[in-house]
Amino acid sequence: MCGIGGVWGPGAVEAAAEMAKWLMHRGEEGVGYAYLSKDGVKVGAPAGEVEAAVVHTRYSTSGPYGVQIQPVLAKYRDLEAAVAFNGTVVNYKVLDPGAAADAEALAKKFVELVWEHGLAEGLRALYEAIEGAASIIALTQEALIAVRDIRGIRPLAYAGRAAASESIALEGASSEIPPGYAVVIKGGGAELVKYGEGVERLCALEYVYFAHPASRLGGRRVAEVRRALGAALAKREEVRVDAAAYVPETAETAAEAYAEALGKPLAEAIMKNRYAGRIFIKPPDKREPKAAFKVDAEAVAGKSIAVVDDSLIRGTNLGSLVKALRAAGARGVHLRIASPPIRWPCYYGMDFQTPEELAARGKTEGELAREIGADSLKYLPLEDFRAILGPNICYACFTGEYPLQDLGGAASPSRPGPRRG
Ligand code: SF4
Repeated sequence: MCGIGGVWGPGAVEAAAEMAKWLMHRGEEGVGYAYLSKDGVKVGAPAGEVEAAVVHTRYSTSGPYGVQIQPVLAKYRDLEAAVAFNGTVVNYKVLDPGAAADAEALAKKFVELVWEHGLAEGLRALYEAIEGAASIIALTQEALIAVRDIRGIRPLAYAGRAAASESIALEGASSEIPPGYAVVIKGGGAELVKYGEGVERLCALEYVYFAHPASRLGGRRVAEVRRALGAALAKREEVRVDAAAYVPETAETAAEAYAEALGKPLAEAIMKNRYAGRIFIKPPDKREPKAAFKVDAEAVAGKSIAVVDDSLIRGTNLGSLVKALRAAGARGVHLRIASPPIRWPCYYGMDFQTPEELAARGKTEGELAREIGADSLKYLPLEDFRAILGPNICYACFTGEYPLQDLGGAASPSRPGPRRG
């Protein structure tokens, strides 16, 4: 996961810097820029008169944490491009054995194949060569090129002369770029180019957790989908609770809908330090939850509380949260997860690429509840989840069925992921 954006034309630097603020929820380890000036394509802070700019907000899924900021500059013959992408290229060592991370291998392959075969044929060859997921924004001497992942796993949208991972980062009415298409933006405007037969398999976790609630994905407002998940969770509720609370901030919308459906108050019981960032997307040594959350005793004392979270991946912070709720006087703590158990790794751009790190792996709801110290734990059943999200979605980490198999490509689930070298 990362955020990517690009703008062509006057004011590109200011617009790209503004975009970065609206893409930080997708990655906050670092922000990288590239720009086009009369001296060609450069990476780094824009300087001088700039014709176009690209921004990347980083979240590590390959290579060491905290480094490898994109865009990556690559050159083949006379084609030079700054390439930023969102996703993970699993087989990057096959593409380029000398590459330090997937972004470098992808950038080199991009310029080589586009120079050799032209844009549409080159992109088709690129996506045939890569395993994984990749939505790309590349800046060349002539154009800004926004390429939607051929499997549609990672989102990408455009509006006017700008493109970005999510509509929230774009000004005005935006359109999602269909899988298998690229948008070429330059002086004359934006042109949609088909490069291959795409398949729509948007990542389910984009709806559940990652995307901004005000973004539109698959034609739907993310917040509406989260509300539907919370309401479905409430329909399955069997325990009598006094109030609902949520693990800030992404679970708020689902929790609101859950509380509304049950006719219970939504307690502002768990406070997040807004300067602590998103725990899940942090490097492992910075996921300590104590600094990020506090519990308001007044809101929970003597009550049985349903704590709604959007998903449970590593469960890093839930044990200490439950303890803090009990210490604050909660009579009961019931965890409610607005998505099904995640039992398989992700090879498409989320940073959980080994089964061992997944809390739900090999455990029942009861076992997990005991481990976390909660009175009960319930997930949203897969059938409810699928009914809300629909058919053209990647559910691989919930089901073990990977979209690469749909395309006749090599399936990756049994193979170790590429992370960190
Ligand atoms: S495996 Fe899970 S996290 Fe990865 S793309 Fe598919 S739904 Fe998203």
